Amino acid sequence: MADTPRHGLATRAIHAGQEPDPRTGAVVVPIVTSSTFKQDGVGGFRDGFEYARTGNPTRRSLEQTLAAIENGTHARAFASGSAATDAVVSLLSPGDEVLTTIDVYGGTYRYLEQVKARWGLVCRFLATSDAEEILAAITDRTRLIWIETPTNPLLNVIDIAALAAGRPEGVLLAVDNTFATPALQNPLDLGADIVAHSATKYLGGHSDVLGGAVITRDAELDERIGFHQNAVGAVPSPFDCFLVQRGIKTLSVRMPRHEDNARRIASLLEEHPAVERVFFPGLPSHPHHELARRQMRGVPGMVSFRLAGGRAAADRFLDGLELFALAESLGGVESLACYPYTMTHGAIPDAQKQAIGITENLVRLSVGIEDAADLLADVEQALARAAAP
Ligand SMILES: *Cc1c(COP(=O)(O)O)cnc(C)c1O
Repeated sequence: MADTPRHGLATRAIHAGQEPDPRTGAVVVPIVTSSTFKQDGVGGFRDGFEYARTGNPTRRSLEQTLAAIENGTHARAFASGSAATDAVVSLLSPGDEVLTTIDVYGGTYRYLEQVKARWGLVCRFLATSDAEEILAAITDRTRLIWIETPTNPLLNVIDIAALAAGRPEGVLLAVDNTFATPALQNPLDLGADIVAHSATKYLGGHSDVLGGAVITRDAELDERIGFHQNAVGAVPSPFDCFLVQRGIKTLSVRMPRHEDNARRIASLLEEHPAVERVFFPGLPSHPHHELARRQMRGVPGMVSFRLAGGRAAADRFLDGLELFALAESLGGVESLACYPYTMTHGAIPDAQKQAIGITENLVRLSVGIEDAADLLADVEQALARAAAP
């Protein structure tokens, strides 16, 4: 019912796959914990359920919600974003090539470089966010282009429609939509084949669950991804599915608030003498501001910046924060600060970090939905400490 295009995102997030329980009328999808399902005669599955690794009612409901909010037709929920990435990359065979960017999520870099390369996948990490340059790097062996946009931590924006239109046949385009979320962009509408998520971030939204998702409009791709998931077993628990689904219900009210708070902080940073440079695609100073405006309906609450006083100033800033917690991850209601050089991007060799701009004076903020005045005051006092040791 609600998973039709005539409903807006907020309605789909709250209703798609979530009809009241036919037996009890419960308006919240039940958490079904059973690991197995009674068969009415051999192979007589009720509603297709057989064994909980293969399929579970709570998970199926979440998958219907995920497909609906990404304007897809098929979705698979995973135990983590990393498991979702693995399932997509599993579509390839040894000798095939994947193209991605060097500033891809650190865990994705590690997985491709240290797990899949050994297995025989050719993994190329391009130091660009320019769609034409990415297309120019395609070879006969390329089977997958994997991108994130905006990227982490410098928030570069990549033109999804240009990549989708320009790649040759037989090259899949997958977009990790963790940062933008379907509240801001729907890669499938722009021509991508696959959308992946770490639901641990904005979809879950409360830093209390790990999850992942893969969404497509292609039954055959979905079938292969589901086969891999069932064979490998990287499934989320029913309780985790419940938490992700609950988070998704408020996505469309959280994202504008994240954006508004982040915009105010980015403006404060841009004016401040202790700050060398700000990276926020919502500001005209960002090199991809125009593309961001064209491609997205807003920007996520992520702000990165370089401090004028080098690593020592970054340390003093992070020590000085009181509301922002120094922690990995992002996209939760609470504000977090992160030091990408050793935290999220610690797995990337130093020379490459320098080349892509992950410098020792770089700080990344995941701006939460607290009161803007309190967040601004916290950043301001931490900047004062960073400037005056
Ligand atoms: C966190 C993250 C992942 C990995 O997700 P997990 O849920 O931590 O496994 C993948 N991509 C991006 C962009 C992320 O931020």
